[in-house]
Amino acid sequence: MKLSQLLIPLSDKQPGKIRDAGLIRLVQGGFAVYNAKSDEILLLPFGTLALRRSLGKLLALFAKTGVQPTACFGAGPFSIADRFVRVFGEVARAFLEEREGNLVFTGYGETFAEAQTFVRALGEAVREEPVFADLGCRVLEERRDDAWRLSLAVPAQKEARESAPGICCSACGWGGLPESVAPEGDAFSAKSAPGHGELPLKEAHTPGASTIAELCRQLDVSPSRTLKTMCYSTGMGESLRVAAALVRGDMAISLEKLRRALNASEIRRSTPEDLARCITGVAGYLGPIGLGEAVTLVADSRVVGACDLVVGANKPDFHLTGACWGRDFSAPLVVDLVRFEKDSPCPLCGEPLSEANWRVLGHFDVPASPSETALTFRDQAGTHAFPFVWTGCVFGISLLSALAEQGGDKWPEGYAPFDAWIVPVLPEDNETAERLLQELAQQGLAPLLDDRECDAEKKMADARLAGVPALYLVDTTTSGKHLLTDA
Ligand SMILES: [Zn+2]
Repeated sequence: MKLSQLLIPLSDKQPGKIRDAGLIRLVQGGFAVYNAKSDEILLLPFGTLALRRSLGKLLALFAKTGVQPTACFGAGPFSIADRFVRVFGEVARAFLEEREGNLVFTGYGETFAEAQTFVRALGEAVREEPVFADLGCRVLEERRDDAWRLSLAVPAQKEARESAPGICCSACGWGGLPESVAPEGDAFSAKSAPGHGELPLKEAHTPGASTIAELCRQLDVSPSRTLKTMCYSTGMGESLRVAAALVRGDMAISLEKLRRALNASEIRRSTPEDLARCITGVAGYLGPIGLGEAVTLVADSRVVGACDLVVGANKPDFHLTGACWGRDFSAPLVVDLVRFEKDSPCPLCGEPLSEANWRVLGHFDVPASPSETALTFRDQAGTHAFPFVWTGCVFGISLLSALAEQGGDKWPEGYAPFDAWIVPVLPEDNETAERLLQELAQQGLAPLLDDRECDAEKKMADARLAGVPALYLVDTTTSGKHLLTDA
């Protein structure tokens, strides 16, 4: 293809009103224009070609994992699924189609776990693909009220559109969202829980130690050896319920996870009045031992098996040392309760987490219960059942913005609008340049001939702006044609 045939408004000027670094590059590289009034991104030929090729690469990747590419033209894949999803284990049951520049997924799982396993495999396939590994792609998992969500995300600046504040571990690379499901890992497991259970339960005088930091200073222990006990209320008046959440002292409590564990529609920190109606303890000195029957104890799963912990004594200025799960206290409700924050321990390696920002490339939702659709299938026992219908979407513009932001001057091969940019230095080089164009096309590449009437310097600068992977400089009068891989 020849550049003069395409509408490519390249510009090295900083476009106004855009702060997303990826989007800025797309505009500068002539891929897109941005309409600030409507906050719309309109793709030009470069952007359209890059989108087509990038989605094509992903489509091929997903097809390898068993997702069926389809084109349903607005009807959605239900009509296809209705014909073929009859007996599980026999036919394909995940479908994708390109819709308005995105890849849209619908899948049918026999059980929640089976649908989750399938979606996790999709996430892993993308994360392991070298191009996405280079972008720093992570798979983030979170639980929502009625679904489980897996997001594909890459690190981005705060200004990125579709960005989500999160956390990451610079030591092991783990990434998450504040409410992410805590993965099982050594640093979080009961095995690594502090203490051995040899110490007796003992009262310690801790005047003014109403914070974990002051408590640790006074008793000379690390926060991971303390237990945080915080009370939360649901309901009002007669229906008031108080729950005490127990997490390790170096971790934060997720209100969302607690709310879901209590099956409540709203939750709030208990007021002194709430506490006065249920317990004798004092905020800052609360602990799970002897808190009273009126309070529901909810423990984070990392607390199970922990020993020799420092816990509040439920009276002002006193704590108990040597407290052990099972021997001295336990909880009827054990769930994942951790909220990930800056400086929380990494769930995989235990190193302090740092703040991060993620550009979400797409996400998949698996519903918590079967979807009562018109479609039923026969399960292994031969009975008719409703499937777990999961859905997903990979956002085309996010994908292009991520590739543009992190691909730098060079997009990954096969994702850029063109594989090669040919620059004839002088008009007399045009014939050789045309031949090179044909040669490269015959090799199966997508080359672009820069046939504009401007100097070679400008052409090379524009090629860099567009991020085309290979740059050919054709100069027949001196030394022939050059491949400048590092433009
Ligand atoms: Zn880590």
